[in-house]
Amino acid sequence: MASPPAAPATNPTSWPTLNSAERGALRELLIHGPMPRAEIARRLGISRTSLTRVTRELMEHGLVSEGAAELNGTAGRPGELLHVRPQGRSFLGVNLTADRLFAAVTDLEARVLVSHDEALDSGGVEDTIAQIGRVRERLVKGRPDIAAAGIALAGDVVTSTGRQIVTESPFLGWRQVALADLAEQRLGVPVATENDVRCLTAAEHWFGVGAGFDLMALITVGFGIGFGLVVDGKIVTGGHGKAGRLDHLPIDRNGPLCEYGHRGCVTAFLPNAAIVGAMRTPGLDYEAVVALARSGDPAAVRAFRDAAYALGVLVATLANTFDPEKIVITGEGIPVAELARSEMDSAIAATLHPTAAPVVVDIQPFEFTEWARAAAVLAIRDRLQF
Ligand SMILES: [Zn+2]
Repeated sequence: MASPPAAPATNPTSWPTLNSAERGALRELLIHGPMPRAEIARRLGISRTSLTRVTRELMEHGLVSEGAAELNGTAGRPGELLHVRPQGRSFLGVNLTADRLFAAVTDLEARVLVSHDEALDSGGVEDTIAQIGRVRERLVKGRPDIAAAGIALAGDVVTSTGRQIVTESPFLGWRQVALADLAEQRLGVPVATENDVRCLTAAEHWFGVGAGFDLMALITVGFGIGFGLVVDGKIVTGGHGKAGRLDHLPIDRNGPLCEYGHRGCVTAFLPNAAIVGAMRTPGLDYEAVVALARSGDPAAVRAFRDAAYALGVLVATLANTFDPEKIVITGEGIPVAELARSEMDSAIAATLHPTAAPVVVDIQPFEFTEWARAAAVLAIRDRLQF
């Protein structure tokens, strides 16, 4: 597929300084795949001459190459296509949960090259950064070092005077932690941090089912309920890092209580623990309730139907709010969308505005390593300053 790669002019593992046109060209190739030079120039609104300078620079850094490649399903002249050199750089993604660290190294096109997970040593900030350093050394052994890293975690992350601050991560018990700066000192490469669901949204938006969409939403279901929004091609973070907080939306005022004391909110029905709790049977775990629902157990089926109804209300509420082109549902709790799809669809129909366009729902299977890959995508996007 590729012509002989251009020899990188600089350190072949570190990320070079690129100007905005160079970043833009690389971004277009990453999101939309190989394309002719003329098409990139058109998309970026720059002259062919300028693009020649841009591509020469990107080739010298070993980030793109030119050669025959198939256009994605469309007719085109082969032989003049620019494409990303996936092996041009590698990236570390780390996802932190309350008690585990998930890590992956990916190439420039976000393909996982190697992954690893282990228990968190203590969950303290310094210990965790040291642990990330050791995991990086383990993962890059015998392969090119990383160019940048991304760290994803459940919590609020804001950028304040150019620094990324984890303002609050309840699962880790962290507040006001300059995680990116601290990790950068330890790893010696640029580090970006972000809320885990926003990372996952970014991954779907560039390298997944949302590629090329300007307006999309992502809902994660599982341990908690998360939301990611893309508006005009950008991830929405909100004024305080808290955009997309629909996890306590009221659903049924006669429903069960959530941990905040709301009666019948989304969190009282939809998270895996709420589905298990609805069974009122000690000793059951989520997998057992899934198995019971598949075998037709009435209580388990009911729990999944109630959860799916709440999910449908969320989908339609997002659709009513900002009319996305697509809504992606994913996460470890994805069986809810499969076991009770009709309940979800009827909630969507009941909640959607009468004049709204039909909602495009994309249900994506999920593996836990996706979180770490998404953190690597954060690192890639951060290098392209998007
Ligand atoms: Zn609630």
